[in-house]
Amino acid sequence: MTRAPLREFIDRHPRLFVLTGAGCSTASGIPDYRDDNGDWKRARPVMLQPFLADESTRQRYWARSVVGWQRMRAARPNDAHRALAVLERDGRIEQLVTQNVDGLHQAAGSRDVIDLHGRVDVVVCLGCGARVPRARVQAELVRRNPGFAALEALAAPDGDADLEQVDFAAFDVPACERCGGLLKPDVVFFGENVPKERVGRAMAALQRSDAVLVVGSSLMVLSGYRFAQAAAAAGKPIAAVNLRLTRADDLLALKIAERCTDALSFLI
Ligand SMILES: [Zn+2]
Repeated sequence: MTRAPLREFIDRHPRLFVLTGAGCSTASGIPDYRDDNGDWKRARPVMLQPFLADESTRQRYWARSVVGWQRMRAARPNDAHRALAVLERDGRIEQLVTQNVDGLHQAAGSRDVIDLHGRVDVVVCLGCGARVPRARVQAELVRRNPGFAALEALAAPDGDADLEQVDFAAFDVPACERCGGLLKPDVVFFGENVPKERVGRAMAALQRSDAVLVVGSSLMVLSGYRFAQAAAAAGKPIAAVNLRLTRADDLLALKIAERCTDALSFLI
């Protein structure tokens, strides 16, 4: 069994920097983006620049999102989330950082979480900066587009969904109630940088930690990989729970190729 080495790693390093990714939420019914080689399983998600530039891209984004959000909202934490909440309660986690936007760590009871890529349950106005609960925007999206809300489709990790052969031009996108500005989910899009302040806080926590535990991330995007690089540069050991290849495999002190729920449930 591979649990003993992971238990030993966790016992040996009382101040863990934990970084979680999509694999941590798959057991909650939120599918992963990437296949075994780290390549995209589906069409690439919407990029920031087209979203800002084209009304048609925003129509397509929100139409897909109105469907995907229904599955995202129904998702519940799994044993991997619960195990990390227990570790935090036991005072073993210096900082939990997640690449997921689903809020499931908080739902499981984790208190101190850096949502590296934002939260899909919040919408921000790019005009006046107002932050609005997604549930309220969802109600408005559904009110304006009742036909789209009924569509069933495959959900993707950021609450997006695969809808093909649908006429998005008919989709009615609401603007900010306060200023009429452009609404965007408060998540870091592909092609967008993680806010500097957020990265700085996570990096400072990494320097206070004595080891890194990666849970369910392939570290394919730089926003996550840079923490493995920084840990390696500082001589901090890295353990990873991931079924598949990670970009940092050559930097790892320990690799547990299991499902996150299986690998971590001994902590509960
Ligand atoms: Zn506004």
